[in-house]
Amino acid sequence: MARGLMNKLVSRTISIAGKWQQQQLRRLNIHEYQGAELMGKHGINVPKGVTVSSVGEVKKAIQEVFPNEKELVVKSQILAGGRGLGTFQSGLKGGVHIVKADEVEAIAGKMLGQILVTKQTGPQGKVVGKVYLCEKLSLANEMYFAITLDRTTAGPIIIACKKGGTSIEDLAEKFPDMIIKVSIDVFKGITDEDAAKVVDGLAPKLADRNDSIEQVKKLYKLFCECDCTMLEINPIAETSDGQLVAADAKLNFDDNAAFRQKEIFALRDSSQEDPREVAAAKADLNYIGLDGEIGCMVNGAGLAMATMDIIKLHGGTPANFLDVGGNASEGQVVEAFKILTSDDKVRAILVNIFGGIMKCDIIASGIVNAAKHVQLKVPVVVRLEGTNVDQGKRILKESGMALITAEDLDDAAEKAVKASSS
Ligand code: GDP
Ligand code: MN
Repeated sequence: MARGLMNKLVSRTISIAGKWQQQQLRRLNIHEYQGAELMGKHGINVPKGVTVSSVGEVKKAIQEVFPNEKELVVKSQILAGGRGLGTFQSGLKGGVHIVKADEVEAIAGKMLGQILVTKQTGPQGKVVGKVYLCEKLSLANEMYFAITLDRTTAGPIIIACKKGGTSIEDLAEKFPDMIIKVSIDVFKGITDEDAAKVVDGLAPKLADRNDSIEQVKKLYKLFCECDCTMLEINPIAETSDGQLVAADAKLNFDDNAAFRQKEIFALRDSSQEDPREVAAAKADLNYIGLDGEIGCMVNGAGLAMATMDIIKLHGGTPANFLDVGGNASEGQVVEAFKILTSDDKVRAILVNIFGGIMKCDIIASGIVNAAKHVQLKVPVVVRLEGTNVDQGKRILKESGMALITAEDLDDAAEKAVKASSS
């Protein structure tokens, strides 16, 4: 549930406006079971767990890892939060279930391969490819813990709350005073005082204060060493025997650090990502999927932003942000066009090219070529200007394609909005 809070802080729009260039997804997101393993390696207390991809693996996994457990927590692994309160499209309620050991097979069978819809997945949901089986700890108290990057201090900030579990968003609204924020000086690192402030904010009732301080310091160390952009544990819990444990794990990593975090980046699960973005990343296009009805193909991030704004101004909504870049090949333009046309929501395509380094004739050839590979079911509005514009226009004209040409950006947006609603 509470994964949403951090997602809101680090929202998608920021990544559009932010300083990304080559990479579509600025933050790698990994599964809970992977995050738990990483935390375990860094000395953080995590429940014992094992992952299965099929019902057939359940019996053996339990025999090997949990021979004596009576009950287990069965957790759907998807790259989105809110699983506890989610619902499967099959009707099954809850992506996290606590069941008797001999019922694990049955419940895992109802989760694997099924689509789980949560507050954070969107209505289309995400398919559960793996299920994480965890020891059932008796949780005496559930708290909230996160580390993220704060724009104000331009450094890491630890956020803690003595109440956690589900829906930190609601709590943050109702009891803002319960949320403790501690900024960390990256040069000094985390001090004992910083960590103590966090622990006092968590206010564990049973866990040893010094042990908890050590856990907080280890979490901060992991955050820095692994180039995290976010580390959220909701709940961080204390067991009835006084242990602080991370009972959930949401970790994001800075894509710019991929070169030095090879092991972590090998964990990327493309099956959970927007398929349009996966295809775009393969073609090395700067693409971000949105949910409007006008597909955009633009060169230059600034022009792409302006195009999205002007579409909005004329009452439409962009289906994507797409900057084909300054030196896109014809092949990349073809790929871009394929992505736009394969999107069911797209009701019109707007091509807006201001040729500079990018030449208008390359774009035109790309469009004509793409039209041979994909069936064009929606109107295409084209506005070309700049380098080789005449050749570009000639290529489009000679292709015999039914295109709507536009004179300028305003005209193009108006025509695209009109075409999308007719
Ligand atoms: P999320 O809903 O996607 O954030 O998934 P969580 O991993 O947070 O699981 C949902 C809820 O299940 C948690 O908030 C806990 O209340 C509960 N839960 C998870 N693990 C355990 C456990 O080991 N023991 C108990 N008693 N409850 C757990
Ligand atoms: Mn959680």
